[in-house]
Amino acid sequence: MIEILNILLIEDNPGDARLIQELLSEDTFIHIDTAERLSTGLEYLDEEKFDALLLDLSLPDSQGLETFNRVQDSFPRLPILILTGLNDEELAPEIVRKGAQDYLVKGQVDRNLLKRAIKYAIERKKLDDKLQRTMKELEAKNKELEDYTYTVSHDLKAPLVTIQGFSDLLAQNYNDKLDEKGRHYIDRINQGSERLTNLVSSLLELSRAGRMTKPFDWHDFNVIVKDSLESLEAKIITANVKITYTEDFPRIFCDDMRLSQVVNNLVGNAVNYMGDQESPEINIGWKESGDYYEFWIQDNGIGIKEEDQGRIFNIFERASDAAQGTGIGLSIVKKIVENHGGEIRVESEYGKGSTFIFTIPIKGVKE
Ligand code: ADP
Repeated sequence: MIEILNILLIEDNPGDARLIQELLSEDTFIHIDTAERLSTGLEYLDEEKFDALLLDLSLPDSQGLETFNRVQDSFPRLPILILTGLNDEELAPEIVRKGAQDYLVKGQVDRNLLKRAIKYAIERKKLDDKLQRTMKELEAKNKELEDYTYTVSHDLKAPLVTIQGFSDLLAQNYNDKLDEKGRHYIDRINQGSERLTNLVSSLLELSRAGRMTKPFDWHDFNVIVKDSLESLEAKIITANVKITYTEDFPRIFCDDMRLSQVVNNLVGNAVNYMGDQESPEINIGWKESGDYYEFWIQDNGIGIKEEDQGRIFNIFERASDAAQGTGIGLSIVKKIVENHGGEIRVESEYGKGSTFIFTIPIKGVKE
């Protein structure tokens, strides 16, 4: 079936309108309607389905970007091609970024170019719409998964508390009635349920990491580092780790609680994976890199084999020689960093130490 394209032209200059009509008139598969004012054009768009809009920005009742914004807001799915008398090098990219499909300068378009621009604009818009729909579906699926993880881990907690409670009672009240083997079994139950509790709590954390606890704001990263180190103080002192850091960290746009969690996890890991290093050290630093701040947490611990480096950010993945842990911490960290518009990576040499580096956009991310 041959498709007839229904095009609306909003153009107040009769000469220009005639010219465009003439350019397209040879093509019997294009039908073109014209409006001279934005208000009339909007009425036409309300009444009839158009495949694309050719829009002049300077109209008697609207000027410049405002003209585009008004149509785009009311008809977000309509492919819009700007048709203007002036070649504005600043406005053109801005308006395309805002969603216009093309920016054509009158007098510089010929018949073929115009037809091609219209057809491509329609196809591109279809693809855009499809992409938007797929992204929405993905977001919904992600949310569903997070909710699912949350519900499952939440529901697992109650029976776990029961198991722990009764095995404690058994140990306390029946200790003398049990022989060594019996007491050993209870110990094993306790160890297992403790591990399960850690897993369930980490899973709950992971599902919460996607939901920010509060709106983003500008926070001093010095305070975030100090708070995190304070909460890890006992662990750091016990492990006898020397921590060095600069005191000139920048302010960043973030959810400070979540960023503390990132630093906490990374420094906590650095302490955990020190191995038998005689003078354990951790350095926390930063630098600017393009549009981003780059923060690092560097240790001189056991390091990570090259083949493990890519997968440790995935849930439940641990390095082949890691004895403890749930393998969830780094997936939480990754999720939080990505929610802030950044990325995380590791540089490590096995046996020498690791540096975890994450970025945060200097200007902050749109929530
Ligand atoms: P967990 O520490 O609970 O196992 P994580 O997701 O925090 O889980 O870390 C995943 C794995 O990455 C760890 O099991 C460990 O093998 C490795 N890892 C993380 N941080 C370090 C580090 N600083 N040095 C060496 N290995 C590390």
